[in-house]
Amino acid sequence: MAAFVALVGEGNKFSKLEMFNAVPGVSQADRRMRDLREIGWVIDNYKGNPTLKPDEYLVRKIGIRVDLGEKPPVSSGRKSVTGAKRRRIFDRDGNTCQVCFIAGGSEFADAPGRRATLTIGHIIPVARGGSDDDDNLRTECQRCNDESRDATLNPPDKNEVLTRVRNVGGRADKLELFQWMQRGSRPLTDKERIFTDWARLPVSQRIELMAELSREVHGS
Ligand SMILES: [Zn+2]
Repeated sequence: MAAFVALVGEGNKFSKLEMFNAVPGVSQADRRMRDLREIGWVIDNYKGNPTLKPDEYLVRKIGIRVDLGEKPPVSSGRKSVTGAKRRRIFDRDGNTCQVCFIAGGSEFADAPGRRATLTIGHIIPVARGGSDDDDNLRTECQRCNDESRDATLNPPDKNEVLTRVRNVGGRADKLELFQWMQRGSRPLTDKERIFTDWARLPVSQRIELMAELSREVHGS
């Protein structure tokens, strides 16, 4: 992929089709572009550059030539978050995406059949100096972790959100909301944590648990 984009050259465009033809077996074009962006490549797509068509890319800067054996700096990249740390963050966040609050393994409400896989995201991106410290890390689903999401998911309107903020309740409610915004995440309630853990049980155990709860809430 790097070799192909380098061949296109800075200042030139290429289409998805040209890329698929040139790099056999490649899939998830946007993800591959993101991998390159993380190592210094600047590649525009139509979401960030309205002069481009939806299947077009513009090469603005050639980054680290991994195709020629150049090595990215060791401090960058997602791989720096290790297994134990990943598990600790997932656990802290209740195995729930801290952006859209979908539980790992759950189906997206607006995309039936597509399930959330969880990953670790940086609140301040590594590229902008964000660290791998726990307080800069959070659980994200693959969709919220994808930088192109805002353009693909009908982002809410700022003024509409502001109106809802003003109507949310008294000063205490607003203060709580402000604190969530400041943290970049919302603390989960016990009920939410129980629900997401329940959702991760095998189906048969979920049904058994529901039967137990049903006896308590409906009487047996
Ligand atoms: Zn999400």
